[in-house]
Amino acid sequence: MSLVDLERFVVVGGGIAAAGAIEALRSAGYGGHITLVSNEPEVPYERPPLSKGYLLGTTPEERLFPRPKSFYAEQDVELRLGVAATGLDVAAHIVALADHTSVRYDRLLIVTGGEAVPLRVPGADLPGIQYLRTLADARALSEAMRMAATKRGRVVVVGAGFIGAEAAAACRTLGLDVTMLEILPAPLLRVLGQELGEYYAAVHRAHGVDLRLREGVAAFHGVDRVEEVVTTNGEPIPCACVVVGVGMRPVTAWLEGSGVALGDGVLVNEYCETSAPDVFAAGDGACWPYQQAGMNEPVHVRLEHFDNALRQGEAAARNMLGQGKPFRPVPYFWSEQYDLMMQYVGYARAWDQVVIRGDLASGEPFAAFLLAAGRIRAAMAVNRVRDLVALKKLVGASVAPEALADTATDLKALAAMAQRG
Ligand code: FAD
Repeated sequence: MSLVDLERFVVVGGGIAAAGAIEALRSAGYGGHITLVSNEPEVPYERPPLSKGYLLGTTPEERLFPRPKSFYAEQDVELRLGVAATGLDVAAHIVALADHTSVRYDRLLIVTGGEAVPLRVPGADLPGIQYLRTLADARALSEAMRMAATKRGRVVVVGAGFIGAEAAAACRTLGLDVTMLEILPAPLLRVLGQELGEYYAAVHRAHGVDLRLREGVAAFHGVDRVEEVVTTNGEPIPCACVVVGVGMRPVTAWLEGSGVALGDGVLVNEYCETSAPDVFAAGDGACWPYQQAGMNEPVHVRLEHFDNALRQGEAAARNMLGQGKPFRPVPYFWSEQYDLMMQYVGYARAWDQVVIRGDLASGEPFAAFLLAAGRIRAAMAVNRVRDLVALKKLVGASVAPEALADTATDLKALAAMAQRG
């Protein structure tokens, strides 16, 4: 089938992967019909500021949108906002919608991303317990934080992953009292490991966060609103507001029984193709094969990073047009807490060596490398933005740990050598 025969592209999901895909379709010259279906009322916006500048009041709502609504009209994109996709008939090429209508597609892109994992403990439905995934969540959290500030009440943050840690940093920056509960022995543990997690524990404590490790939530108490968190150690903590950041899960319920293969998200190959003909997937909800230098087999990963969602959305769009290019990025994400800009490249869930370049205790910028069997699987840096390109080039390379640790060696030179060798 040639490009001109493809009359109808449908994008389900209204996040940044959708935005990237739509722009890529139009810039590649696709002139056919595009429908964007999203259960959110807004056109695609950027979520990263929701736990940072938006809460701090430094990023106004209009700056969240990479493109205004008018852009979609100019690009002749039909918007079906505020309506969820509820089912998919892969044989008939039809997506069923919650308003009992349906849309037919020649090519379909699934970018339904993720949703916050709910806490299931007594009292979890009380008002004042906020999640942070959507703009609506961020609006509600901002309001709850404002009320907490007025009452001089405490904010309890449940979970010291990236969302919880960034929300805690925003609350402290605004002068709110914060307790952060984390069931694991360190913040950000799954991604950074113990040593770097302890660095972040010290950072939050130095900023006045009452950080409780190996301690979770047993119950919430309150009459019309949350007033107290009871921890798993049985301690009651009075509070005015709670932020829950205990992870996200891919949104795939609407695809069950459709024949699209599901695992940890929608399973795709390196061309972003699902198991169903003409159906592609990308972003936080897609599980794809990541191949790094020195790995025998690709690992199947589902990343929850902005850069990945945007680029994979673009890559999927180009492959929907038949360009046949594999998606082979070096994964990248960042996190901002207080005055610390952390950047992370690569992917590592297991490693046997951590090499620190710099001094974690000094408060100065540093970099860290996570190695497995002598190879750099991932690298992160704090306040070393100018090292990012070199760090990316080092992912997958075997470099002597002493050279990585030695601040007198030039990272760019190491990266150039690693690429040649
Ligand atoms: P999503 O953003 O989840 O978008 C999916 C869209 O699909 C949503 O609009 C959803 O409502 C819609 N949808 C779901 N189900 C349906 C359905 N059945 N029918 C129709 N529509 C549906 N990443 C970083 O790299 N750095 C950061 O600092 C960072 N900060 C973050 C801060 C916050 C508060 C959050 C929530 C995320 C942050 N991220 C960050 C992660 C980043 O924002 C995500 O990786 C990115 O948003 C994923 O985009 P996506 O389009 O794949 O999915």
